[in-house]
Amino acid sequence: MKRVLITGAAGFLGSHLCDRFIKEGYAVVAMDNLITGNIRNLEHLFPLENFEFYNHDVSNFVHVAGDLDYILHFASPASPIDYLKIPIQTLKVSSLGTHNLLGLAKAKKAKIIVASTSEVYGDPLVHPQTEEYWGNVNPIGPRGVYDEAKRFQEAITMAYHTFHQVEIAIVRIFNTYGPRMRLNDGRVLPAFIGQALRGEDLTVFGDGTQTRSFCYVDDLVEGIYRLLMSDYAQPVNIGNPDEITIGEFAEEIIKLTGTTQKVIYKDLPQDDPMQRQPDITKARSILNWEPKVSRKEGLKITYDYFKSLSEDELYKKEHNDFTKYIKK
Ligand code: UDP
Repeated sequence: MKRVLITGAAGFLGSHLCDRFIKEGYAVVAMDNLITGNIRNLEHLFPLENFEFYNHDVSNFVHVAGDLDYILHFASPASPIDYLKIPIQTLKVSSLGTHNLLGLAKAKKAKIIVASTSEVYGDPLVHPQTEEYWGNVNPIGPRGVYDEAKRFQEAITMAYHTFHQVEIAIVRIFNTYGPRMRLNDGRVLPAFIGQALRGEDLTVFGDGTQTRSFCYVDDLVEGIYRLLMSDYAQPVNIGNPDEITIGEFAEEIIKLTGTTQKVIYKDLPQDDPMQRQPDITKARSILNWEPKVSRKEGLKITYDYFKSLSEDELYKKEHNDFTKYIKK
């Protein structure tokens, strides 16, 4: 049985990746320090024989006993609010953490895929963004702690590939949504749906003309799986090119949820990118991948998930007690 280490396993993407690798018949070693991850995202996997969980911060030395075939480094805070709250951890996990995991990959002769991001393009001057574009990033702005750490992550990953011949893949992830997003992480989709569910007005930042392109999580996971199984070692954009303004997106959420609340406008955060849309020519040609789930279908599934949350969760109390899941 092949064995895979997934960091950030209790997070939104990490937990969906755990599900996918379990489904593919792998033994999954899941790791998370639970500062932004939620152990309940993995609850259903704890009874399985081929699943283990370690509460560990990968910015410190990472020890895993036994063989590993693949490492997926998906640990990192991933929302602008988190970068403001925990900037140093954000910097460390993609720099020191990536270094530790590259060392582990080298020692285990495992292939590693690192989660990079459309944020490496910053507030892009090229539209849509191709992998060849180098980006427009403010290193010392509020997003700098994430953007520059992710850019360093790509650099050190490529250096381990060229200098140590470690097998690598780099996925540049664009805005992704789906069940298990944190309701209160500040990102636009959970923010709008949470506001609709609580009967609050929807907060559009700026005038709502900035754009994003939202990818449903199952499509993203399929793209990541294909990239990991390919032998392509350059960065690849994975995302859905279906672009929408944030103003229009708010209207879609109002229609979906049937809320009678209105849109209110707040200041645009500093360095908020004006437009974002992936060019997925590479993913199409190299991985034969493209997104399949429309925003309409994906939003419906995601809304059903948020509706199923308890009052407690809706009004923000995050629980992270993992001790009850530890195997005796
Ligand atoms: N946004 C908004 N209202 C909110 C939260 C976010 O209008 O309550 C905007 C935000 O300014 C940005 C876009 O929605 O332009 C996407 O924000 P998000 O934090 O989800 O991700 P980003 O792509 O900016 O990292």
